[in-house]
Amino acid sequence: MSMFQIKPARTLHEIYEQDFIPQKETGIHGWREWFVAQWRSHIEFYAEHHWWMMPIAARGKRPVQNRSNYSTVNKMWPALTVKQAEEWASKDFNIAVIGGRQIFWLDIDEPQKVPASFLEVAATQFLTMRTARGLAIPVERSGRGLGTKQLDGIGVDTVRKGNTYQLVPLSVTCTRDSGTSNHRVDFGKSPCVDGGKHDLRVREFLDLSKPVMMQKTLGRLLK
Ligand SMILES: [Zn+2]
Repeated sequence: MSMFQIKPARTLHEIYEQDFIPQKETGIHGWREWFVAQWRSHIEFYAEHHWWMMPIAARGKRPVQNRSNYSTVNKMWPALTVKQAEEWASKDFNIAVIGGRQIFWLDIDEPQKVPASFLEVAATQFLTMRTARGLAIPVERSGRGLGTKQLDGIGVDTVRKGNTYQLVPLSVTCTRDSGTSNHRVDFGKSPCVDGGKHDLRVREFLDLSKPVMMQKTLGRLLK
């Protein structure tokens, strides 16, 4: 058992109560305006890091119509500009980042299966995202081979690289959405897969001021 615990991803209501309300007196008064401003700072961060952004269905995991299929990206589509990404986000659409040559992501759906020593360093010293189900860690590529074989057996579920994409903060997804077409939110008009309400959670970075892990650091941590 590790002392290191990851809190579950928050709901929009929790963010409203914990972050928006306390700043309301001295900051932005409208929840929607405030949430878009949080989105904007994230989108600017992605653009500064040259991460390619693409629009994803509102509260969903699949790219908006005609952009691509689920797992790969049609390279003919240019990445979104900051302004375009902001427009999509302000209409409740999610945003994903394409791996490209810049980054890959380590998806960890069951953090308890990952060695605590690795997880603790990654989550406290480097940029780490909390997802609806677990964690994801972006890693900046250095051009050499990924050496993903080293990742076998440390509990990483998926390595998203190249043309695959990763939904990024402040995207909102349902914990029961596994990315298949039978899960639809449709602006709240469709019920969840069990016929009930969706369990919507917001993707957030544990700390946006932390640096992105470099590939060589990952290699060192896995030794
Ligand atoms: Zn759902």
